[in-house]
Amino acid sequence: MKLNELTIQEARAKLDGGEISALDLTRACLARIKEADMEIHACLSVCEPEALAAAAAADIRIKAGETGNLLGIPYLCKDNIMTKGLKTTAASKILENYVAPYDATVIKKLKEAGAVLLGKTNLDEFAHGASTESSAYGLTKNPRDLSRVPGGSSGGSTAAVAADMCLFALGSDTGGSIRQPASFCGVVGLKPSYGRVSRSGLLSMTSSTDVIGPLTKTVEDAALVLEIIAGADERDATTATEAVEHYRQKMILSATDKPLSGLKIGWPKEYFLKELDKEVAARVRAGAEKLKAAGAQLMEVSLPYTKYGVPVYYLVTPSEISSNLARFDGIGWGLSKNEAKDLQEFYKSSRGAGFGAETKRRIMLGTYALSAGYYDAYYKKAQQVRTLIINDFQRVFEKVDLLLTPTSPHPAFKIGQQINDPLAMYLEDIFVTGASLAGLPAISVPAGTVAAEAGKSLPVGAQLIGPRLQEGLILKVAGILAATEERHAK
Ligand code: GLN
Repeated sequence: MKLNELTIQEARAKLDGGEISALDLTRACLARIKEADMEIHACLSVCEPEALAAAAAADIRIKAGETGNLLGIPYLCKDNIMTKGLKTTAASKILENYVAPYDATVIKKLKEAGAVLLGKTNLDEFAHGASTESSAYGLTKNPRDLSRVPGGSSGGSTAAVAADMCLFALGSDTGGSIRQPASFCGVVGLKPSYGRVSRSGLLSMTSSTDVIGPLTKTVEDAALVLEIIAGADERDATTATEAVEHYRQKMILSATDKPLSGLKIGWPKEYFLKELDKEVAARVRAGAEKLKAAGAQLMEVSLPYTKYGVPVYYLVTPSEISSNLARFDGIGWGLSKNEAKDLQEFYKSSRGAGFGAETKRRIMLGTYALSAGYYDAYYKKAQQVRTLIINDFQRVFEKVDLLLTPTSPHPAFKIGQQINDPLAMYLEDIFVTGASLAGLPAISVPAGTVAAEAGKSLPVGAQLIGPRLQEGLILKVAGILAATEERHAK
C-alpha cells in the first residue's frame, strides 16, 4: 500500500513506530496530487515548500518522543478557510489575489497539533452549490467516475480524500456541503453541531448555519480530527463552551455482541419518499439492519416539516449571503474595476466582474427577501417555519437517540446535467438542510454502492443526525454503520 493511501490511524502507528517519517508521508501525498490532479482538479493551490518544512518540523517532534492525533499527518483545506500567507479565494474571481493575513482558528489548532497543510481545495464559488461546478476556476471531477460531479460545495476536499491525495481534508457545511459530497465520493463527512467548531476565519456564507468539519477515509479518523478542531473560541461568540469529548474513546464498543442495546434509532418517514432512488433506500435499509443486529431498536418517526427545509433554507441562506457578501465592494475587499465614472458604477463593475452567476442569483434573492416590503412575507416567515423544523427535531429526540436517513436522494449525477437548472440543484439538499437549519450534528458514511450505467457502480451515503453536541454518540453508531463499507475496512 502506498503511504498516501493510509488512514490517519494507520499512519499514526507507523509514524510513532519509527517505520515512516512525516516527510515520507507528505512526499507521497504531493506525488499523488501531481499524478492525479491534472484530471480531477481537486486542488486550487499546493504549498509544497511550506508542507515539506512543516513535515520536517513534525519529524523533529516525533523523534523527541512526542505523539498526538495529527502530528505529521498531511491534509488539504477548503479554499474558504483562511490560511496565513497563502491564497484564500473561495473559488471566486472577486478574491483571485487575496492572501489571508491570519489563520482561521481551526488552522491554528491544526498547526499546533503538527498536522501538515498541503494546499487548498476547490469549491462552488463561496460554497454556493451542490456540485463544485460553479467554481470560477473550473470544476472538480468525482474520482469514482470522472464523468460525474463530486458533489459540493466541498467537492475539492472530498475528491482529494477519495483519491488519496491527503489523509484528511477540511470542508465547511452550511446546508450539506460536507455530507452530500461525502456520499457522492464514498468517504466519511462529519458536520459538527453549530458552534462546536469555531467559525473564526471561515469565510461567512450563512452565519447562522456555517460549520467546519472533517472529510476522512474512516469514521475513527473523523473522531481524531474533531478532537483537535473542536472547542470554545473567544474569536467566535457562537462557539459552545461545553468540554470537547474524547470522541475516539467514545467509539470503543462494549465487549458484547449487542453493543448498541438500549439505543433507539428513528427512521423518519418523510425521508423515504417515492422519489427516493430505490437502490439508495435499499442501502440505507441494509444499514438499519446492521444497527439492529448490534442491538439497536429501529422506530418509525415523523418530522412533518421536512418538506419545508429546502424552501426555508433558500430564503434564510440567500438573505444572510446578501448581507455577508456586501463587504466585497472593491474598496475594502475584493477585485476593483478602476475605470468607473462614479461610485455606483464602480460597485456595479467590480461586483459584476467579480461574482459568478450563482452568487449573483443568491445576492439578488436575499436582497429581495430582506427588502422592506417583503421582509415579513419571506425572511420572517422562513425564520418562523425554521422554528417549526427545530421543534420537529426536538420532539423526536424525546423518543429516539439518533435518526437514520439517506444523505442524498440519488448517487452522483453527471457533469453538466443540472448546472443550468438551479431549482434541481437546490432540491439536491432535501435531506441535509434540516440538520443545518436546526444546528444539529450529522454524519454521512459510505453505505455501499448502487449500479450505474455500463456496469459501473457508484457510492451512496447513509446519514445519522443527533441531538446538539452528541457527536460522540453519532461517531460510535457511525462506526458500526460504516464497518465493512469503508474502503479501508479490513
Ligand atoms: N447545496 C447547499 C447550497 O448550495 C450547500 C451549501 C453549503 O453547505 N455550503 O447552499
